[in-house]
Amino acid sequence: MPELPEVETMRRGILPILGCRITSAERPACTRRPILLQPRIDAFDRRVRDRVVVNVGRRGKRVTIHLDDSQTIVIEPRMTGLVLLAEPPTTDHLRLRLNLSAGSTKSSRPNESTGAGESTGSTDLGGPIDQLLFWDRRGLGTVRLLHPAEMASMVDAKLGADALCITAEQLRENLGSSRRAIKVALLDQAAVAGIGNLYAAEILFLAGIDPRTRCDKLSRVQWQRIQECTLNVLEDAIEHEGSTLSDGTYRNALNTEGSYQNHHRVYDRADVPCGRCGKANIRRIVQAQRSTFFCPICQRKSGLHETVTIR
Ligand SMILES: [Zn+2]
Repeated sequence: MPELPEVETMRRGILPILGCRITSAERPACTRRPILLQPRIDAFDRRVRDRVVVNVGRRGKRVTIHLDDSQTIVIEPRMTGLVLLAEPPTTDHLRLRLNLSAGSTKSSRPNESTGAGESTGSTDLGGPIDQLLFWDRRGLGTVRLLHPAEMASMVDAKLGADALCITAEQLRENLGSSRRAIKVALLDQAAVAGIGNLYAAEILFLAGIDPRTRCDKLSRVQWQRIQECTLNVLEDAIEHEGSTLSDGTYRNALNTEGSYQNHHRVYDRADVPCGRCGKANIRRIVQAQRSTFFCPICQRKSGLHETVTIR
């Protein structure tokens, strides 16, 4: 957490910074263990000062802010990081502030923009955009300012195709000969970027595939299904602005909660009756030190179960 839907929601939420000029970067006073910031704040500040934001993108679970001199600010929220335009949940865990000038206005509907260069319209928080914040309670997140060659070697080379774009054929090519369990393999960012523990469980439930199934035992049809269900689950979660779990940490760029947690079918629902078959309780097992949730009937290992209708 956060995974692709949460990070994509953050990206869309901060689109109003497009066209803004960065006037300075500062590290607010923080008594907590410092986050990884590269380079150190004085050099960071010098390199971003007076640069204009020309694009806001995403690579897997990272937000990328592209500047007019080809540098990229790569923000990886990891466990508890947030990218915010609004006031943060606490001032205590504020890690980085980019001061901005000549921006547009804060959008009240951060989930409706899909690409760079869009105008975002309404202004429920009002006023020009004057700052972008990185907040992180646990401090495991990272912020890096990278030149294009560093971006290629440190980010692009380590990530597979994005989970929203990958084809079934690419998925099968990357993972089809692996002996790993499919649930574990879907978390491999070099194979497919963006899926984490929560959405892997939801995707496999929708696909009707046992999370313990070895990748090399999956049929072409099953890979097709995994790809379709990946798209279905992630797009649905983005529409709901991601999942805010019981710890309440994840918020969108305007510091409000997502709502996909109300639509989870298996994640964190151990011993709750399955909403689809109504016959079994959701089971929790541990795979590669992470919890996996699944329905033992809807995701039967034999693969003889009926087709699960998508949507
Ligand atoms: Zn079931």
